[in-house]
Amino acid sequence: MTSKTTTTDSVPHIVVAGGGAAGLVSALALASGGLAVTLIAPPRTRDPRTTALMDGSVKALKALGAWEALEPYASPLRVMRLVDGTKRLLRAPEVAFRADELKLDAFAWNFENEPLLAALDATVAGRPNIRRIAAKVDHVRQGEAGVSVALDDGTTVEAALLAAADGRNSPCRRDAGIAMRTREYPQVAVTATLAHTRPHGDISTEFHTETGPFTLVPLPGERSSVVCVVSAKEAEALAALDDIAFARAMEKRAHSLLGAMRLDSVRGSFPLSARTAERFSRGRTVLVGEAAHIIPPIGAQGLNLGIRDAATLAELVIEAMRAGEDIGGAHVTDAYETRRRSDVEGRSFAVDLFNRSLLTDFLPVQGLRGMGLWLLGRSPTLRRRVMREGVGPTRDIPRLLAGEPV
Ligand SMILES: Cc1cc2nc3c(=O)[nH]c(=O)nc-3n(C[C@H](O)[C@H](O)[C@H](O)COP(=O)(O)OP(=O)(O)OC[C@H]3O[C@@H](n4cnc5c(N)ncnc54)[C@H](O)[C@@H]3O)c2cc1C
Repeated sequence: MTSKTTTTDSVPHIVVAGGGAAGLVSALALASGGLAVTLIAPPRTRDPRTTALMDGSVKALKALGAWEALEPYASPLRVMRLVDGTKRLLRAPEVAFRADELKLDAFAWNFENEPLLAALDATVAGRPNIRRIAAKVDHVRQGEAGVSVALDDGTTVEAALLAAADGRNSPCRRDAGIAMRTREYPQVAVTATLAHTRPHGDISTEFHTETGPFTLVPLPGERSSVVCVVSAKEAEALAALDDIAFARAMEKRAHSLLGAMRLDSVRGSFPLSARTAERFSRGRTVLVGEAAHIIPPIGAQGLNLGIRDAATLAELVIEAMRAGEDIGGAHVTDAYETRRRSDVEGRSFAVDLFNRSLLTDFLPVQGLRGMGLWLLGRSPTLRRRVMREGVGPTRDIPRLLAGEPV
């Protein structure tokens, strides 16, 4: 039997598909402006990743009232150190970026995804205008005045707009007929949390190697997350090691900077690819988070982009609602496309360029990378500019990212 859920009262109704971090933050941001939100969130599988959220994302979470539940699980990242760990002829000098040079307390805060998602779940549960349904989107039908979202429990939800945060294989994107542009890389990101005998001192260290970056990011206590980007063959060899040998291999890559290491989580393995949707909206569907863009885990950009998607969408939708306009109309969805495109494309391009500069054996490119880092080490003005861009965009910033309500 098919039942239908429709919202007919005066408050516009929006559906958010997906209960990952991008979907949860979207639901919170949209609900903060008074919209009626239905969150379609099937039970999640365990997420072994960690996420560093930049200063702007943290400001947005504070403005959404989610930070109190999150803070106990976060570790600040106050210094970022880049170390050339290659054995090449032209090697770059070490560079350290300090958050206080930007007058920031920290560049970012690092979390294990499980407590991050649990704290966001709890914040969502406390919002009376978010209704959560534990089901999957089965298919989506676009109409002139609304969108029908059919769920796998046999019910259908009608709304003015669908925010599709249903992940990299997004069924909502498929039904909107939006294609992805894809770029594959010959690398895999091996991830784990490690306990260590020396304190990290709130410093994140990134070793540049011939196969990609090896990054240590502080976690609460004497623990750090590791993102180790290697060739597929090396990833297989690491996967074959037992936990003790794996921790030793990580310690060796870290040059024993943090002392002896012990595995403190399950291990993850993520083949690197970049995908960007050809459009971020079609009809009354807009794409948010990894449904719209997948970026390699280099430079901690992925979810930070997703949070900016959520904040921008909420701003546009809530402005339309306050003006008495259709919240799923073309003026909203087109503006979303325009405002999100350059941030997403720009960051994908920068990550791609950086990754290629590590992989290449072409001496002039290695020389240029080394010279760039040497200049960064010497010029505080240049360093501040690069740091500011790394933390987030400097133009067209949604209000939530400045810590203001929508
Ligand atoms: C190794 C690694 C390290 C990373 N580190 C960082 C970092 O430091 N900083 C950073 O900003 N980003 C980082 N990222 C990126 C970040 O993890 C992702 O951008 C983020 O998790 C994507 O969130 P999402 O909600 O878009 O997608 P997901 O987390 O994949 O969530 C999608 C949700 O949609 C649901 N879903 C699927 N199908 C349906 C359906 N039919 N109906 C309804 N729901 C559905 C799923 O159950 C899931 O819960 C990293 C990524 C990797 C791989």
